[in-house]
Amino acid sequence: MFYIKVKLGQDLEMKVDIHDENVFTRCPYCGTEFAVDLVEVLSDGECDLHSTAVVCTTCTKKARG
Ligand SMILES: [Zn+2]
Repeated sequence: MFYIKVKLGQDLEMKVDIHDENVFTRCPYCGTEFAVDLVEVLSDGECDLHSTAVVCTTCTKKARG
């Protein structure tokens, strides 16, 4: 189990479990927010959490014509 830990104040922090339904990103072309499966995105071993972008299905379809 992995989780995100965010410090909200000097004595307050929040922990949120990471699972396949609460990880989101924004499409780099249209800005649409959508859920992503981190395991699938990171499975190719050539990406990282900072610079990897996932294109939404609409922009993917436009790019493919
Ligand atoms: Zn898009």
